[in-house]
Order: sequence, then C-alpha cells, then structure tokens
Amino acid sequence: MQENKEKLAKIKIKALEEHIPIIMDDTLEEIEKRIEKNKPTKILEIGTAVGYSAICFSAFLTENGTIDTIERDKTRAAEAEENIKAMKLENRINIIVGDAVEILPTLNKKYDMIFIDAAKGKYPFFLKESLRMLEPKGIIFADNILYKGYVMSDYNKHKQRTAVRNLREYIKEVTENEKLETEILESGDGLAVTYWKK
Ligand code: SAH
Ligand code: MG
Repeated sequence: MQENKEKLAKIKIKALEEHIPIIMDDTLEEIEKRIEKNKPTKILEIGTAVGYSAICFSAFLTENGTIDTIERDKTRAAEAEENIKAMKLENRINIIVGDAVEILPTLNKKYDMIFIDAAKGKYPFFLKESLRMLEPKGIIFADNILYKGYVMSDYNKHKQRTAVRNLREYIKEVTENEKLETEILESGDGLAVTYWKK
C-alpha cells in the first residue's frame, strides 16, 4: 500500500514535469465527496493521459469494479499501461487506444460514473454519448469546463475559440435539459457535475 502511494506520487511528479494536465487535487476531492456513498462499479474515462486519474479513481471503485479509459495518443497510452501494471491494477483498468469520437459510438455498456477530460471541442459529442450510457443513478464529471475563466467571460478571440464555444454549449445543454441536474464547480479548471433529475 505504502509502496503504491510512492509509485503514484512519482507518476504525478513526472506528469507535472512534462506538463501533462492531470487532475487537480481539489477536483479529485470534489469527485470523491460525491461518490463515496454510492461507489461506482463501472467507470468510463475519456482522456487517460498517463493513467494518473484512472489510478486515483480505482480507489473509489466497489470490490469488483472496473474502469474503461480512452486515450488517442499511443505514447501516452503505453506509459499509462506501464503505470497501471506497476500498480498491479491491470485487471481493474482497461485502456482503449483510439480517438474517443470513434470509440464511444462502439461502446454499449452502462456506467455509474463518467469522467470527461479530453478534447474540449468535442465536449458536446462526449456528453451525448455519455448520456446514452449513463446508469439511472450515474454521474458525469466534466473537467476543465471553465477553461481558465474564458468560458464565463466575453472572451471569444484567439485560437481557443472553438474550445470555448463547445464548452459553453456543454454547459447550456446540461443546465437547460430538463432531465438533468447540474452543478458547476470552480475547483481546478472548473468541474461540471451532472446526474439525472430524481
Ligand atoms: N485524465 C488524465 C488527464 C487527461 S489529459 C488525468 O487526469 O490524469 C487529456 C488527454 O486526452 C490527453 O492525453 C489527450 O491525448 C487525450 N485526448 C484528447 N482528445 C482525445 C480524443 N478525442 N480521444 C481520445 N483521447 C483524447
Ligand atoms: Mg483535465
């Protein structure tokens, strides 16, 4: 256990050094708070990077729980695979290498928790696919939803314009859809928390 903690700390330091945008501590806390009572058995993650968040989430799973996580960058996916093996989590975390835009429509499982943390321009599509696979008691977390404050400001210049427009569209959909309940948190780079209205 202690050994795994050290390994995880090393994965985190290396990722930060390489400027890989891994989940922030306060975001992780907010997620844990919301799922500790209703532990997930099936988690879907969009955007594995080197496996850091998936490894963290594995501690939240039920005893037989598993995580499917999608990554399109082959080098990162290979590093994630190594990290997951080193933590002896290969039976719990399944990496799917490919573009989530192509992979998601091929999935037909149900998930208790979905973590969206990949291309911001694709968030509305990721949402549509996530809702299709979300269990009645499931919960969707979308990271970076406020994108350095751009999303809530009148910022619309620059090369991030498409990302900002799509993040705004995501927020509009989850807040205006009458079947959904959503909280927008300021932790990290912004976290949207969405579940079915009771
Ligand atoms: N969830 C990770 C960090 C993910 S960073 C953690 O917190 O530890 C975002 C990752 O999403 C990057 O590695 C990037 O390659 C991947 N990504 C971006 N767009 C994608 C897409 N369309 N399909 C699959 N992966 C994508
Ligand atoms: Mg993120």
